[in-house]
Amino acid sequence: METRKQKIGEINGVDVVCCPFFTKELDENDLDTIYAIILDILKKQAYTMEENTNPGFVMLATRPMGAVYEKAVRGIVSLEDVLQILQTLHARFEGYKNKRGLIGAIAAIAWEPKDRTFEVIAYRSNERWGTRRTVDPSSVKNMDATFFSTFDNYDYRNRHNRIVPNSPCPILFGIRGENIEELIAGVNMVKSETVDSWLVFETNQGTDDHLQQKKINEIQPFESVIAEGKVTQNPWTIQGGHVLFDLTDETGTISCAAYEPTKEFRTAIRGLRVGDVVKVYGGVREHPLTINLEKIFIKQLMKIWTKTENPICPVCGKHMKSKGTEQGYKCIVCKTTSTKPSFREQTRSITQGFYEVPTCARRHLSKPIKRVEGKQSGDIIAIRTSDIP
Ligand code: ZN
Repeated sequence: METRKQKIGEINGVDVVCCPFFTKELDENDLDTIYAIILDILKKQAYTMEENTNPGFVMLATRPMGAVYEKAVRGIVSLEDVLQILQTLHARFEGYKNKRGLIGAIAAIAWEPKDRTFEVIAYRSNERWGTRRTVDPSSVKNMDATFFSTFDNYDYRNRHNRIVPNSPCPILFGIRGENIEELIAGVNMVKSETVDSWLVFETNQGTDDHLQQKKINEIQPFESVIAEGKVTQNPWTIQGGHVLFDLTDETGTISCAAYEPTKEFRTAIRGLRVGDVVKVYGGVREHPLTINLEKIFIKQLMKIWTKTENPICPVCGKHMKSKGTEQGYKCIVCKTTSTKPSFREQTRSITQGFYEVPTCARRHLSKPIKRVEGKQSGDIIAIRTSDIP
């Protein structure tokens, strides 16, 4: 049996190691001990006075169905259903306040990663909790440039150091990435106040696990979806700087929005035109039903033609008349003709491919383009000049 161990952390100066293979069967005594330790930590550390803090933990000998995870990450799971599963599987668990922490805990155990990333979290010593964090941004940029398998470290354009949280929590910073060795090296490259301890987690961040492919008429509020269709209303900007356009497939039409916090992403969205074929990715807002864009794949760009100005007759200096679509021009005075094309192709401001919100606006689950595998392709479609409205 393989016993290859990997170091994944350091807590109080002690190495934390993990092994990809099962190494120890826990007996009832071990489980009681672990349960008591977790209970004690939760009692001491959980900020249950915070309105949105509803901790819970779950210990299970049997993994629940993967569907529990999928339902939790994509839709809504009721606490009743979770409690039912916990009882059926003879779990040890504890939920506080509204007990919703139990939902996240059971979903995490049920998770069978198809795609996954890692995050190394560096913690602060407890006397520093709640104080201003010292993390040197230039060292973060350096780390970002050095370790290509990491992502969402720093938003260069909006000058946002994404690895540092804003809350007064014990976390100093967290680096997300594909490769455990690079993450560990990353912790050492970031210049900061003393790292008290650190640990690598396997996560669903940056996986798009929350998204499900939907036809437009199937889209429900609070889901996160992938939908494909044609732009049927040119982008418009509303108060607050939010940019919207309408997307239509064979089942219906829905508005898509790039909100103000998505910054330069809105410039790409403003470049869309009626007839463009796109695939959109995002969460669904209820009123009005709108897809809040996380990224977009521009599959086909419409060729847009503008009418050229009528040429001047080289003989008598009068404006010539069009003889009809692609027929050229003719002077009505002296009958001189011109073959100058009557339409000119407009240069589009966007190209085919992916556009995503900047790092500063990315949701944790949203897969960065950097991680999107197998570039999708699309063809430029042309429209005949006679199709021009
Ligand atoms: Zn003429």
